[in-house]
Amino acid sequence: MKKSLTRRSFFFRSLGAGAGVFLFPPVSAGIIQKSTKGITPLIITSHSNETGRNAMEAGWEILRSGGSAVDAVEKAANVIEVDPEDTSVGYGGLPNERGVVQLDSSFMDGKTYSAGAVACLENIKTPSSVARLVMQHTDHVLLVGAGALEFAKAWGFNEEDLLTEKARKIWLRWKEELSPSDDWGAPEHLQNIQKKESYWKDFPDIEHHYGTTNVLAIDSNGDIAGCTTTSGLSFKLNGRVGDSPIIGAGLYVDNEVGAAGATGRGEDVIKSCASYYMVMRMKEGRTPQQACEDALKMITDKYLKVNPGFFPSEKFVAINKSGEIGCATMKGTSNPKMSVRTEKGFTLLEGTIAFPGK
Ligand code: ASP
Repeated sequence: MKKSLTRRSFFFRSLGAGAGVFLFPPVSAGIIQKSTKGITPLIITSHSNETGRNAMEAGWEILRSGGSAVDAVEKAANVIEVDPEDTSVGYGGLPNERGVVQLDSSFMDGKTYSAGAVACLENIKTPSSVARLVMQHTDHVLLVGAGALEFAKAWGFNEEDLLTEKARKIWLRWKEELSPSDDWGAPEHLQNIQKKESYWKDFPDIEHHYGTTNVLAIDSNGDIAGCTTTSGLSFKLNGRVGDSPIIGAGLYVDNEVGAAGATGRGEDVIKSCASYYMVMRMKEGRTPQQACEDALKMITDKYLKVNPGFFPSEKFVAINKSGEIGCATMKGTSNPKMSVRTEKGFTLLEGTIAFPGK
């Protein structure tokens, strides 16, 4: 089932305290039912494929039986992380420029106002689980690289090669076609021929490739948790950290307000502290949908004087304490999608495009 958000004026801010206005009804009328406590347990992910759906069912299983938002979020994130076909998250994610998969993830628990994250983590399939352990079993928020791996191993995680055949070939193709003047690729006298025959024909022509997942949930106690997990920008520089493990950028949760997560060009999300901004907008009364759109506009406003034609690729999702949901993407031709699971079932929802056609 797919439902559409109502496209509304992107710049219309005067609704200010749009509280109670379900511009993006939680899952549309009749789908969400509030519990007797007035709480709407739900789980959402920015992933909209079959794995996203499976992740929602796994997370919902926990929420349905009264489990915590933290447990539900971790379970759902793990389903996406271990999918070898997904080239943007966890196992099977596209590697950095050296062919090494380096994962970023953050976790936040609204109930205890705790956060944990890992960055540039290698060889561990489920970085979200490591981030959760950083959150619950250290007095730190962010561990990186070798230290993050050491911590994961101390907790019994197995080191595994995360580079799948598929991801390795995409990386090799990228390397071969990176530059016409290096020595990767066919001998010079065969280059045009090889391109035509296309050894790589089954592998997509990928330049920079973004992709991440956000998972946000509210449990039956009304507690909110969230996780963002990714292999990050494909072919990134060794050691590059994106927004996903940065609390306030790729993820933010406030138990009294809601939660937000980001995917897309991490550099912009870091500079704009986008997830924190969205949650603060919701705190001021904006709906999750408005908050997502506000954050996208805030980013483009910054570029107006620098390069007005620059519209980076971001997609934001947000939920509030009342069970409202929002989703918006910066540009493109097809509306962004997200997966939602509530007690009324699974729904694929469409968000809005801030600058269609850009
Ligand atoms: N935000 C991620 C990063 O910059 C990538 C993505 O979401 O596509 O690493």
